[in-house]
Amino acid sequence: MSDIEPIVQGAPAGFAIPAGVFAQTVTSVEHYTDRLFKFRITRPGSFRFRSGEFVMIGLPNAEKPVYRAYSIASPSWDEEIEFYSIKVPDGPLTGKLQKIQPGDTVLMRKKPTGTLVNDALLPGKRLYMFSTGTGIAPFASLIRDPETYEKFDEVILTHTCREVAELAYGEALVKGVLEDPLVGEFAAGRLRRYATVTRQDYGRRGRITDLMTSGKLFEDLGVPVISPDADRGMICGSMAMLQETKTVLEGFGLAEGANSKPDTFVVERAFVG
Ligand SMILES: Cc1cc2nc3c(=O)[nH]c(=O)nc-3n(C[C@H](O)[C@H](O)[C@H](O)COP(=O)(O)OP(=O)(O)OC[C@H]3O[C@@H](n4cnc5c(N)ncnc54)[C@H](O)[C@@H]3O)c2cc1C
Repeated sequence: MSDIEPIVQGAPAGFAIPAGVFAQTVTSVEHYTDRLFKFRITRPGSFRFRSGEFVMIGLPNAEKPVYRAYSIASPSWDEEIEFYSIKVPDGPLTGKLQKIQPGDTVLMRKKPTGTLVNDALLPGKRLYMFSTGTGIAPFASLIRDPETYEKFDEVILTHTCREVAELAYGEALVKGVLEDPLVGEFAAGRLRRYATVTRQDYGRRGRITDLMTSGKLFEDLGVPVISPDADRGMICGSMAMLQETKTVLEGFGLAEGANSKPDTFVVERAFVG
């Protein structure tokens, strides 16, 4: 046996925190379904990010930990960091990450990045956030940031999942925002959630792209069809979802922007594959 004590919870003997990485403590874990959970970790005092960005995270369970990209689901002012995660059976990271408990250590690389940030969009009246599955995570950050409401009069969060149980995180999230003493004041009457399900019976069914092209989304919300004068978009989902939603927005006259060149919509993958 090595006489070197592990320095972080769950780490093999001799594990040293790599340069450029924070080792943080899990403060809470909440499971929603057998495929989805949320967890929160302590926030390093020196860690700064813009709401909507992502960061690489890993576990200290091997000499060379596996890191994966994760959207930060908490807003930039929060004193903890929240993540909303998939559980991939036997996934190199989430196979183990899904078992974390309060008190365990999570590694987080120090440099956040991403395009789903307010700065990458031109000012507008209405901001649409289009998400599927865990793609709601960056928007969980942005809808809790007062800056989003300073930039846009209305915020419409669309979330599409296969099954009703997969909507639970988003439902609780929006309720929490509207009841929050700080952000609730900004979001009241301006934040709207539009949830749809594709594979089970639910009040609203279907893919968001179909609901846009048929006009049903706009009818349901009582707003004009998307136009580049008034509307802005952020998209986060699978590659197929990004491509389809992008095509629909371009059909309405919107154009893709980036941090270096703000425009009327931005996209980011919710996962690779
Ligand atoms: C910019 C970016 C941001 C991301 N943010 C998040 C996030 O906030 N929450 C999150 O859970 N994941 C997020 N991911 C995906 C994440 O990086 C990992 O892929 C995921 O945690 C699974 O890791 P793994 O090592 O267990 O399996 P992997 O080997 O990474 O994935 C195995 C397979 O599982 C599927 N898969 C992976 N992630 C997802 C997912 N989120 N939803 C549905 N299917 C998936 C894919 O088919 C993939 O090929 C993000 C990815 C990118 C590129």
